[in-house]
Amino acid sequence: MTTPKSDRVSASKSATEGRGETFYPGPSRTQLGAYPPKERWDDWVELDSRAWPRRVERHYMLVPTTCFNCESACGLLAYVDRETLEIRKFEGNPEHPGSRGRNCAKGPATLNQVNDPDRILYPMKRAGRRGENRWQRVSWDEAMDDIAGRIRKAIAEKRNNEVMYHVGRPGEDGYTERVLAAWDVDGHNSHTNICSSSGRAGYQWWMGYDRPSPDHANADLILLISAHLESGHYFNPHAQRVMEGKARGAKLVVFDVRLSNTASHADHWLAPWPGSEAAILLAIANHLIQEDLYDREFVRRFWNWQEFMEQERPREPASFEAFEKALKKLYGEYSFGFAERESGIAASVIHEVAKLVAAAGPRLSTHNWRSAAAGNLGGWQVTRTLFLLNALMGAVGVPGGTFPNAWNKFVPKPIHTPPHPHQWNELSWPQEYPLAMNEMSFLLPHLLKDGRGRLEVYFSRVYNPVWTNPDGLSWIEAITDQSKVGLHVALTPTWSESAYFADYVLPVGVGSERHDLHSYETHDAQWIGFRQPVLKEAHARLGKRIQDTREVNPGEVWEENELWIDLSWRIDPDGTMGIRKHFESKSEPGAKLGVDEYYGFIFSSSVPGLPEKAKAEGLTPLEYMRRYGAFEVMRNVGPQHTARVPEAELLDVHRTPQGRVYTRAEKPLSANIVPVPSPDPDAEGRRPVGIEVDGAVVRGFPTPSGRLEFYSATLKAWGWPEYALPTYIRSQVHPQSLAPGEVPLIPTFRLPVQIHTRSANSKWLDEIAHTNPLWIHPSHAATLGLATGDLVRVETHIGHFVVKAWVTEGIRPGVVACSHHMGRWKLEGPGQRQMMATVSLKHEGSRWLLRRERGVEPFDSADADTSRIWWTDAGVHQNLTFPVQPDPVSGMHCWHQAVRVKRAEPGDRYGDVSVDTAKSREAYTEWLALTRPAGRYSPDGTRRPYWLLRPLKPGRETYKLPGGTGKSGT
Ligand code: SF4
Repeated sequence: MTTPKSDRVSASKSATEGRGETFYPGPSRTQLGAYPPKERWDDWVELDSRAWPRRVERHYMLVPTTCFNCESACGLLAYVDRETLEIRKFEGNPEHPGSRGRNCAKGPATLNQVNDPDRILYPMKRAGRRGENRWQRVSWDEAMDDIAGRIRKAIAEKRNNEVMYHVGRPGEDGYTERVLAAWDVDGHNSHTNICSSSGRAGYQWWMGYDRPSPDHANADLILLISAHLESGHYFNPHAQRVMEGKARGAKLVVFDVRLSNTASHADHWLAPWPGSEAAILLAIANHLIQEDLYDREFVRRFWNWQEFMEQERPREPASFEAFEKALKKLYGEYSFGFAERESGIAASVIHEVAKLVAAAGPRLSTHNWRSAAAGNLGGWQVTRTLFLLNALMGAVGVPGGTFPNAWNKFVPKPIHTPPHPHQWNELSWPQEYPLAMNEMSFLLPHLLKDGRGRLEVYFSRVYNPVWTNPDGLSWIEAITDQSKVGLHVALTPTWSESAYFADYVLPVGVGSERHDLHSYETHDAQWIGFRQPVLKEAHARLGKRIQDTREVNPGEVWEENELWIDLSWRIDPDGTMGIRKHFESKSEPGAKLGVDEYYGFIFSSSVPGLPEKAKAEGLTPLEYMRRYGAFEVMRNVGPQHTARVPEAELLDVHRTPQGRVYTRAEKPLSANIVPVPSPDPDAEGRRPVGIEVDGAVVRGFPTPSGRLEFYSATLKAWGWPEYALPTYIRSQVHPQSLAPGEVPLIPTFRLPVQIHTRSANSKWLDEIAHTNPLWIHPSHAATLGLATGDLVRVETHIGHFVVKAWVTEGIRPGVVACSHHMGRWKLEGPGQRQMMATVSLKHEGSRWLLRRERGVEPFDSADADTSRIWWTDAGVHQNLTFPVQPDPVSGMHCWHQAVRVKRAEPGDRYGDVSVDTAKSREAYTEWLALTRPAGRYSPDGTRRPYWLLRPLKPGRETYKLPGGTGKSGT
């Protein structure tokens, strides 16, 4: 930051002093005293670095927004030049409670995305065949009328399931789900089953919530199953708190096959055989159990041990003492020796870590999101066994422990709430996966090829399935087939491998060009962050009112909120379909809802404390959010499972013998700060309200038992009795499953400066990182005669790719790894030239070859930097060669691959990708055979347990299986 001396003084003056350090006066409470004080955000002065050595002052408006380059949604401050109204840079927003003024490299790179010379500025319509990459500019009106007409016809003809919205980076909490609900389509499809479903599933089976919120800053032991500091979930907000915890003296234990940035900071770095993580965690749990080192009172009060005893040990007394005996027996087999044999980690090391866990007590923060959970068959048991440690130590919802996400997240009520859809879409939720955490999105091409349905309108929205998903060539086959996909609309800020196969490419905004509202579980607090089109706010501060973001965004880039409202009006122009009413103004009945009213309503009526805070500054709640970009709703939320249910809520109560408490009260009467996803009502229609613990009724957890579910009666009832407890599932890359000569390939990590598809228009990031060599240990490389830079052929079960070797001791011997954030490619024609290699893409029948024709090259543009591009590499697109490998329980794609690594063959070229999609089909069929479909295993004639979370949950009536199938035959 180039703050002139005079401004530094004023910043320092307005800061508060604390513990001898200078603190920023806003909610970040960090020690960075040089943040521009918020009182001066309308006219902040800095010297123009480009004018150096002359001292030229620049005057800026500092306008907050949030970063859109990963899920963390860190606060950004856009520096808008008051003279030119150009954004000159992005820095951190100290008013943001999650990121506290800090960003990773990807935040400031938002500026590259705004100014990218290759960005899509206008709506484009396909001018040749799908995939030919020939385009013509069209008006928004033309595109929107065509799309709306098709959706209207599909809904009118009761083909609601032919409308699908497939999201990559949501960046918001529920806006689009409400749009789809208003259309009455079960059309929400996400990327989550290629990302975090297994991570989520492990948490859901325990808590009824699907994410953790670890309190790293206050932990004594931080145990991470991931490369968390660089690429994990909530990368920057968590990373800074992990380092805070370390600064307090916390120990850091990291399980990672690679020496990641995170592992390099660890006190104990364990590089186990991929997929064996649960074996280690169970050995640690066993140590705690056998040595009586766990929190007996916590287990007694909050585990569903009584249900376990009644169901599984009916001949034994249902006493806690009997349960403890059973527990010792159940886990006795998971010795340190067993874990060593499975993982290759010395028993003594595992014992050391177990002692650290025991010593941490409740100050044990743990986290698994992608990593091992995303890589392996049964990866969800990695998360489940990790949380077993928290559950044993009572490290749940206490300082330094791990919280459920919903306690540390705040989602306000919107202006309109449409009813749940009356549809069930089997293209997203097929019967084979009744327990899937999220939509089976990566199977879509195969489900379409099976003939299970077709799509009239398919939106890919800030999503690039051809490149991001496994088996991308099957995607190309499916989405180029117009009998399967009538219209593909790509809503994207950048060219992508999937956009080439669209009919319309519609430009949507980057982080400084759109509205979104969100809240994430970054620490023990609740906050909301507000993304906004910064030039709209800049104009407003100058007294100009902007109606439509296209007035201020580059070209005709449009924000999606306005787009969805407009599209919904076009689908139902006269309101007769019942859609339009959900997009109408409340203050001006019959008029189109505006974004200012939408957010103004939420901030005024649904965010506790915000109206008062705004009033104190003489602002409306909307003005406050536009000025500061974030609001802290609550700090130190603390445990919610122990919160007493007020007497007034205990109406016509029914208690089960296990202590589940049901009530007839309509809804929570108390100010319930956590929205509780409600499990099933009882036979009398009462809703679960809490659990009885030692005579008191407390909230508990939103599981069927109301307690932490060590034992899942649901898993047992739905055909998986062997997984009813936290246990160990051998991965598809377990040594027993590998054919001779095969080794595991780890593709689940990314470089910290890459952003999925949107890196390709971030020149600073591309300059830093633009290749993805194959990590291979020297001992392994020696057996193949490989040196760094040698070309290697990596063969999967459906094809191969050709990449360069990187010989490094930073990986476990016998395992190879390759970052998945590289290998961007474009066809001849438009594309992101600074990070996409130009390729040819050919096929004969099911055999495909993608070959790099040209690497990245310098080019002339309005940005002089593009003529200075010095790199040619863009990496290798390995994901094309991966078959789909859906976990039969969680539905998560199991990313790790069994591969053969060889020296490249004559004729192989760097970047080659060869795939036979007939083999993709075989792999799909093999993994499908592992499932236990609802049609045969459902205990009650439904498609899915109703209590399980589901995005855009449809009406209860849709859960009934067609034709009365399932075990019950109802
Ligand atoms: S961690 Fe980095 S990319 Fe993610 S939101 Fe924060 S600044 Fe943006």
